[in-house]
Amino acid sequence: MDPFNDKCAALQARIAATEAKLAELKQELARARDVVADARNQNPTVLDESNGSQNGSKWPLSQKEYKRYGRQMIVSQVGLSGQLKLKAARVLLVGAGGLGCPAAQYLAGAGVGTLGLIDGDTVEVSNLHRQVLHRTRNVGMYKVDSAIESLKELNPHPNYVAHRTHLTPGEAPEIFAQYDLILDCTDNPATRYLISDTAVLLGKPLVSASALRTEGQLMVLNNPPRPPGDKSGGPCYRCVFPKPPPADSVVSCADGGILGPVVGTMGVLQALEAIKVITAIESSAPESPLLHMFSAYSNPLCRTIRIRSRRTNCAVCSAEATVSLDTITSGSMDYVFFCGSANPPALLRKDERVSARQYRELSSQSDDSFDKSSLQRRHTIIDVRDKTQFEICHLENSINIPISDILASASTEATPSWVPTELVATDSKEPVYVVCRLGNDSQLAVQRMKELGLGRGGQRFIGDIQGGLRAWREQVDPEWPEY
Ligand SMILES: [Zn+2]
Repeated sequence: MDPFNDKCAALQARIAATEAKLAELKQELARARDVVADARNQNPTVLDESNGSQNGSKWPLSQKEYKRYGRQMIVSQVGLSGQLKLKAARVLLVGAGGLGCPAAQYLAGAGVGTLGLIDGDTVEVSNLHRQVLHRTRNVGMYKVDSAIESLKELNPHPNYVAHRTHLTPGEAPEIFAQYDLILDCTDNPATRYLISDTAVLLGKPLVSASALRTEGQLMVLNNPPRPPGDKSGGPCYRCVFPKPPPADSVVSCADGGILGPVVGTMGVLQALEAIKVITAIESSAPESPLLHMFSAYSNPLCRTIRIRSRRTNCAVCSAEATVSLDTITSGSMDYVFFCGSANPPALLRKDERVSARQYRELSSQSDDSFDKSSLQRRHTIIDVRDKTQFEICHLENSINIPISDILASASTEATPSWVPTELVATDSKEPVYVVCRLGNDSQLAVQRMKELGLGRGGQRFIGDIQGGLRAWREQVDPEWPEY
């Protein structure tokens, strides 16, 4: 190794050690803060300013609270009674990410008395463009701790509760029981069903939202929260979506992308609906259930449709319910199984795949050539990511054919228009390599291309780069952009 590489390696090692120490200190800080919070809960006089009436004052709120919440208290739909309901409310946000951050921010600002946050993830740099409570300095910290740190700076009055865990069926009922209203701020189907089922069975209204790319959805479910079998209760998530989407169709924000203000809008709307549920006048007729759909690039931005009331055969909220708290906590209602597992497919045989390093060796042979153009034809490299990702970074000489185009072609079709001309020539037997971001879509593309006869009955190699461009970064080019 040359001295320059030595120096880099030494610096990297020091950075890794410092980062490990930093993470340790952050956890220590979180533990220390818990001790202080517990002490305050046991001895509320430490935070004396919020308890006006309990301190013998004739006013139900403290002077500071009137001042802080005055602008919303003079809105007729809230008033003093609404503010007191907010103060008495206990709200749980499941997820402290793109939806949970803005929702928590507005609920804390509005003076919700107890705000619980549940999330087992830690803050990553790629979260910061949309998860607005987290700070660059808190990368590596539990999201719930990072969020509560920001929320306390915003409003020290509420009682904040950190649940540093991923929601599990075993724990969900016990945690939900401590709250009056649940916000679903998560991003995976199995958890959505778990949250809805638990909310229905414990009689808690649920404000559910989702967001992906440029679109979002919002619903208030189980409102009013009547017992299963009572048709006057609001529909649940299962009433709207009795069957989960196919596992391989579920796209995460990491794969599909997400625009910050889109998920922010949905989170803010969740806070708004939560405030409306909390401050609602009991005697008023319940609103009919609605599904709001936001689309950033549509005109108008938002459409609303009425959804059906409770389904007569719903597995949770109907008289024919089969899901109970017991089936949830015992594990007999298996949410991961119900929603299917989206493990990366291993569709290709070993001899149909090359590693990133092998591809590097194959392709770099071209560089030594005198006649580059003839050697470039020795193989074709097809990148099946969409055009936007291809434009961020791509391998030299790669051709962009999005997976959606490839999968849209039926196997009976005559040569589809996307097939590069060099593959159409009848005598062409040069190998074809397919690459994508993670090595999943590339396998689907190879399969379809073979079905279309592009493998010439085995005479032409068609295979993929195992692990995709992530593997390329890991094995070949550490400077390859990680996005
Ligand atoms: Zn239902």
